[in-house]
Formats: sequence, structure tokens, C-alpha cells
Amino acid sequence: MDIRIGHGYDVHRLAEGLRLVIGGIEIEHTKGCLAHSDGDVAIHAICDAMLGALALGDIGKLFPDTSEEFKGIDSKILLRRVCDIIAEQGYTISNIDCTIALQRPKLRPHIDTMRQTLADVIGFDVDRISIKATTTEHLGFEGEEQGISAHAVALLTR
Ligand code: MG
Repeated sequence: MDIRIGHGYDVHRLAEGLRLVIGGIEIEHTKGCLAHSDGDVAIHAICDAMLGALALGDIGKLFPDTSEEFKGIDSKILLRRVCDIIAEQGYTISNIDCTIALQRPKLRPHIDTMRQTLADVIGFDVDRISIKATTTEHLGFEGEEQGISAHAVALLTR
């Protein structure tokens, strides 16, 4: 069996009055992520982890932020496309673990909805996707509420 691991990292700047979309769902907040797409840091980190596992580059290469096609796009569509690429290479996604760093709002009430939403897009069981959130104790850009970051690892098998 061929086992591949990949890591992804993404950051988006926060700005007043924008929609906040994380983990495939919209979350009520006063700020949202500035981005060419919907700015879903969790999905972007997860896509990069999957692409990284197969050394296929990153979502910036696949879905350029200069393209009108991807302007304001729902990142779940990008995730689905990445899953298709992985499947075309003959790989199955074994599991994903993602950590989101932000000061506010609290994500705990939304975590299971995010997990189920992403599991449905990917097409595997919800127990194969972990999403965690942490504050950074008011330190750094996340802690000062200037931005949100996310890390993800993905394990693929063939
Ligand atoms: Mg991004």
C-alpha cells in the first residue's frame, strides 16, 4: 500500500462587514475574510494538504486568484474538485485533521456542522475528519483579530 501525507496552511485577513465562512458554513460575526473566493481558510488548508500529499502544488496554482471563474466562489466547489483530482490519481482520503486559529467568535458550537458539511462534500464518514479551533491567547495577528489561520494534514492511501 502507498501511504501519502500532506500538510496545508492558509491565512486570510479579517475585515468589517464581510461574510465569515469557515469549514463550509457561514458563521455570524461582525468581520469576515478578505479573499478572491469566499475566504474559507479551513477548506483552503485542507485542499493544500491533499494536494501536498501527491506533490500536485497548491490551490493557488489550480484555481488562480486572477481568474474571474473563481471570484467569490464557494470553497466547497474547490474542495470537491480537489477530491476528484485525488480520485483520478487512484488515491482514497483516509483522514483529515484541521486546526483553525482565531480569537473570536467561538467555533465550538459549529465544529460538528463543519465536520458533517465537509464529510458530505468529500464523500467519506464524518469520523474521518477532525476540526479543532484554538485562540492564540490574544497573541499575534489571529489574537489581535486581524486575521484567521488554519493548518491541516491529510493522509491518502492507494
Ligand atoms: Mg486562502
